[in-house]
Amino acid sequence: MKSFLSAIQKIIEALFNLLFGCWHLHTSFPQSIKRGQRRTRAAYLTGTYVVCLKCGKEFAYDWDEMRIVTNEEKFVLAHNALEAQSHGS
Ligand SMILES: [Zn+2]
Repeated sequence: MKSFLSAIQKIIEALFNLLFGCWHLHTSFPQSIKRGQRRTRAAYLTGTYVVCLKCGKEFAYDWDEMRIVTNEEKFVLAHNALEAQSHGS
């Protein structure tokens, strides 16, 4: 019964992937970039990234928020605002 359910779940997941693209629900543990290592675009934002185990796409990972950075633009803006604050006055 359990394997039947997981089979159903796999089919549903596959259907979702087909319809909406990968949902990136299964990602690797967050990896930090080591010094001198090639920086991917995803990792460039936070220095940490996760990789989707299904489609292999890389995402910036925000340790402070404990989640994937989905809105890069918003993240950069917020980050710049913080920087400006700490450099100002
Ligand atoms: Zn994915």
